[in-house]
Amino acid sequence: MTVRVRLAPSPTGSLHIGTARTGVFNWLFARHEGGKFILRIEDTDEERSKPEFTDNILSGLKWLGMDWDEGPFFQSQRLDLYRQAIQTLLDAGLAYRAYDTPAELEAMRETQKAKNQAPRYDNRHRDLTPDQQAAFETEGRPAVIRFKIDDSRTITWNDMVRGPVTWQASDLGGDMVVARASSSTSIGQPLYNLAVVVDDIDMAITHVIRGEDHIANTAKQILLYEALGAAVPAFAHTPLILNQTGQKLSKRDGVTSIADFQKMGFVAPALVNYMTLLGWSAPDATEQFTLDEAAKQFSFDRVNKAGAKFDWDKLNWLNSQYLHAMEPAALLELALPYLQEAGYAIDADADQSWLLSMMAMLGPSLTRLTDVVEQSRFFFTETVDFTDDAKAQVQLEGVPAVLEGILAGLTAQPPATIDDLKALVNDVTKAQGVKKGLVMKSMRAALMGALQGPDLMESWLILRQRGFDVARLKEALSLA
Ligand code: GLU
Repeated sequence: MTVRVRLAPSPTGSLHIGTARTGVFNWLFARHEGGKFILRIEDTDEERSKPEFTDNILSGLKWLGMDWDEGPFFQSQRLDLYRQAIQTLLDAGLAYRAYDTPAELEAMRETQKAKNQAPRYDNRHRDLTPDQQAAFETEGRPAVIRFKIDDSRTITWNDMVRGPVTWQASDLGGDMVVARASSSTSIGQPLYNLAVVVDDIDMAITHVIRGEDHIANTAKQILLYEALGAAVPAFAHTPLILNQTGQKLSKRDGVTSIADFQKMGFVAPALVNYMTLLGWSAPDATEQFTLDEAAKQFSFDRVNKAGAKFDWDKLNWLNSQYLHAMEPAALLELALPYLQEAGYAIDADADQSWLLSMMAMLGPSLTRLTDVVEQSRFFFTETVDFTDDAKAQVQLEGVPAVLEGILAGLTAQPPATIDDLKALVNDVTKAQGVKKGLVMKSMRAALMGALQGPDLMESWLILRQRGFDVARLKEALSLA
């Protein structure tokens, strides 16, 4: 048997971290088993589905590195297939048209509520006579098509994550609607559970891997597989992603869409690595791996039942590991859009080598790509604002003379390397008869306008390549 799995997002919003994580588990399982990963866009909800969400989902999956083998298939283009299946159910007497009005259904629910019963359809139109049906049609009532649920059934499956799961059919809410807005001669809009089952049969899906919020749907869907005479696939319900207080991670927690994480400066390999750890752990306990490496070790035996808490510290840590290990050229490619977005004056081609040395210096201290924006800010302007500490430093007795000495050295024999700069510092230290620490601290204050920052000599050289060191020394001297 060739393993065939699918990710079936609904384009009613941007690619959500929960959907993406379900995608990761599908992808890992498919790759581990040498199977196929299929992408299906479930866009039957005409009002809420939007093409821009589909674009966002496709580009998010690509960005994360989850390539699919077949699709994307669009449910909106497959409605005839669903209608055929519904017709098959109708012909077999397994489904029927129900003509209840919204007011009648509401009254039914009110009665159930008053009796403290769970809301359910009481199957009242299951056995309408042809005359009753004709009367409703004459009245102009639209029909829905309901699939018969045998309340005496017990539905069980052996979930790949949760083990044996059992549902009583009587808890499924009565005969279920599989199509809306129908008439005695037509089948209206097919609904979710039916479309999913028809597609999963048609696409020969062997394992349905999805979030645990779909468990009740699985019970209903198993009845549909049986009614359509198809083999029931295996099911794996993956744990929810929880916030720090143990609730389901939601919009209220701020970022939830993959595009948000990207904007925050997370890199795809780190994010996808982190998502893999949301509910799964590697047998060899490693935490840092590529998707391909994880696929080699992946199995559902090591997927937790319990919800997975979202841990920002771990995500930040993983992201920093990827950034620290990155070659300057790769880092530059990723960081450039953030620098441009920040409005820094950059000519990406002309400034290439200058930017590369900046990346080489900053890379090892980054947590997120957005840190590049903060940490490189002062390389892009001729002058900087001075902190009070830095101002006090350049005003210390003896410091102006040190800065004058450096400035003179810079113009007399322009240094071009870090060794040249070090030699200049040594010369001035000796000539002024001061401690080297004082020279270094004062140069930091003069060049960065602050007493903290990245490596002094490397930063100096980067500033020098723009001619900004001279400007800043002059500015510092004007404060003295
Ligand atoms: N379209 C469903 C969703 O986005 C997924 C259905 C499924 O995986 O069966 O939640």
